This record gives sequence, C-alpha cells and structure tokens, in this order.
Amino acid sequence: MSSNFKPQILGVVNDVTPTGDQTAHVCPKCKKASVYSSKSTTQVVVLFVAIGTTASESSWLCTTEGCGWKAPLAQDPSTWEPKKEKTDKLVDI
Ligand SMILES: [Zn+2]
Repeated sequence: MSSNFKPQILGVVNDVTPTGDQTAHVCPKCKKASVYSSKSTTQVVVLFVAIGTTASESSWLCTTEGCGWKAPLAQDPSTWEPKKEKTDKLVDI
C-alpha cells in the first residue's frame, strides 16, 4: 500500500517528469548541481481518472529539497548558472 494514497474526487495533479538533456546544472539559488530539465503536466482528475491536461510546461527545475528554483527551458543555462570557480590551482613544490 502506498502511504501517499489519498481520495481524489475532483482536483488537479501536477506531474513532473525529466526530459531531454539530463546534465546537472548549478542552481543560482542553493548553489548545488541539481538543476535538470523537466516537464510538468497538470491534469484535471475526477474520481481517480484523469479527464484532461490543463497545462504543460518545460522548465529547468532544481531538485534540492526545499529549494524548488525553476526557469523556463528556453532560457540558456549560461544566463542563470553561476560561473564555475577554478579549483585546480597551481601548487608550488
Ligand atoms: Zn536550488
């Protein structure tokens, strides 16, 4: 039995699925490499049966818990992704 089962007489269900390029990008909000392209679909549900899709949008979505940052998929990652810092410094021996 699923623990998140709940009666659904009439409502909307938001379903997010990963799409396209699954390269991790750095989130400008929480600075973690957990932004992936995704597609969210909102469906109208009556008595557990999806009767129609009301909205569908593709977006960049941060999967870090509590963050939830997102941007339109059409926006290039170079416009919002923080610049990578150089960590490979030269070490004097
Ligand atoms: Zn984030």
